[in-house]
Formats: sequence, C-alpha cells, structure tokens
Amino acid sequence: MKVYKTVRGLQRQLDKERKNGKSIGFVPTMGALHAGHMSLIKKSTSQTDITVASVFVNPTQFNDKGDLKKYPRTLEKDAKMLADHGCAYLFAPSPKQVYPKGDQETIQLDISQLTQYMEGPNRPGHFEGVVQVVHRLLEIVVPDNLYMGQKDFQQFSIIAYMLKKLKLKTKLVVCDIMREEDGLAMSSRNVRLTKANRAKSPILFQTLSFVKKNQNKYKVKTLEKKALEMLDIRSFRPEYFSIVDGKTLAPVSDISKHKFVVACTAVWAGEVRLIDNMILK
Ligand code: AMP
Repeated sequence: MKVYKTVRGLQRQLDKERKNGKSIGFVPTMGALHAGHMSLIKKSTSQTDITVASVFVNPTQFNDKGDLKKYPRTLEKDAKMLADHGCAYLFAPSPKQVYPKGDQETIQLDISQLTQYMEGPNRPGHFEGVVQVVHRLLEIVVPDNLYMGQKDFQQFSIIAYMLKKLKLKTKLVVCDIMREEDGLAMSSRNVRLTKANRAKSPILFQTLSFVKKNQNKYKVKTLEKKALEMLDIRSFRPEYFSIVDGKTLAPVSDISKHKFVVACTAVWAGEVRLIDNMILK
C-alpha cells in the first residue's frame, strides 16, 4: 500500500489507474481504525478494483475543540491495518492540503432540513463540516463508490442528500454497524471509556433492541421515555433518544404510518459521547 500526503501525488496515481480502466472505491475516515472501518474496506475491495482510504481528522466538523484535541491518532497502526486488508492507497493529508484556501471555503448546500433533529442541535456546525470535507475529498479522489457506515445514520443520510442534490456520479454504499461481542458499536472513541463505563456501555444496544422488540406494544412517546430511563444509569447521561423516519429524519409519532423507521441515540458515558442506532422497520 502506498501512502500519499499530497493531493497532487494521489491524483497522479489515481489518474493512471483510471486510464487503465480501474474502478475506485473510497473510504473516508478519521483514523484510529478498528474492525468497523475494516468492514468498509472489505466491502470496497470486493466491489471495486482499487480501494483508497483517507485518514484525516477534519477540524471543521468538531464543534468541541477539546474533542478535536483528544481525538485518538494512530497513523502507523492504521496504515498497517489498511495494508493488511487490501487497501491500495492511503491518503493522509494535512489540513493545508485539504483546504489550500483556508477552511472557511465551502460549498453552498442547504442541509437545514436534515440537521434539525438528533445530532444537529447538539453539535452545531458539525454536519456543515462533514459536508465540506466529504465534498472536498470526493473532488480529490473522484471515486466510483463511496463507503460509509450506518453507525453514523444522520451523516450518511446527509451525504446521500448531497450526492443527489449536486448530481455527483459517485454511488454511496452504506455498510452495517459492526459491534463488539457485547453489543457496543465499535468506535474510535471507545478506547477513551473508563473500565467501569466500558462495562456498562452495552446499555445502548440493549435499549435499542428493547425498543425494536416492543415497537408494536407501546406508543412512540412511551418507547422514547422508557428508553431514556434505561439509559439514565450512573455516570451516563442520555442526550437524546429519537425514533425518526429513515428518509426525512423527522420524528415519527406513529411507527405504523412509516415505511422506514430508525431509532437513534447519543449518550455521554462519563466524558465520552457514544452514538448508536437501530433500524426498527
Ligand atoms: P470515523 O473514522 O469515525 O469518521 O468513521 C469513518 C467511517 O467508518 C464512517 O463512514 C463511519 O460510519 C464508519 N464506521 C465507524 N464505526 C463503524 C462501525 N462500528 N461499523 C461500521 N462502520 C463504522
């Protein structure tokens, strides 16, 4: 696997690949890679000729600068893991490479419909930063396929909207949530959990599973209330538990009236913010 730190270097190589008729799959990440990321790499290598991964901790999507500072960085280990899984190229740029004209420059896209709920109000500016960086990375890599995880439900929904609105040719492939054996969704942030909180963190998966199982038994409001109660354990603080339409991301009041419904949650486990979701139907 070759590592590129500059846009020019990567683009030259990818132009050659394209001339040779190779299809390109792209997996954008912020590093501190784990088996969840590798499932995206595996999907990409099974569907395209050349897999490109990026490791870039994008400053513009962190509304909390403390979180940006604490974000784990393990580039050498990441590179080894990617190489072992058949990734052809790793793009690990500096902010200057990604944002040569400064990070204020961005595209015009109104995503306010999709950011009204869940992560949106709790992380102001976050999705604008995500749209900005994914758009820029797509401009650099120009992949045939883009691989993202269902783990970040609102994120992939907003990127799907961006691709459609801007009529980009890249196809989005959404991959299942990879979990630890006890149900905790894999995340780069999990390494920051204290031992005691790590032991309690399967409560997110258990709560989502409870809601899925009981979706026909209780009203949405009751389900959400019960879920928040389940998540409100010592040293945990649920931020939201929302049952929303899987397309519009708007809250639903009656599950039976919607085709695609998902439950999403964010919970503070001590100082670590965990998110998870489950498709109800
Ligand atoms: P991140 O490095 O956290 O920005 O994640 C990079 C990509 O990996 C995103 O598309 C995530 O949705 C995806 N991802 C993160 N965690 C998981 C997981 N547990 N299972 C599947 N995909 C994941």
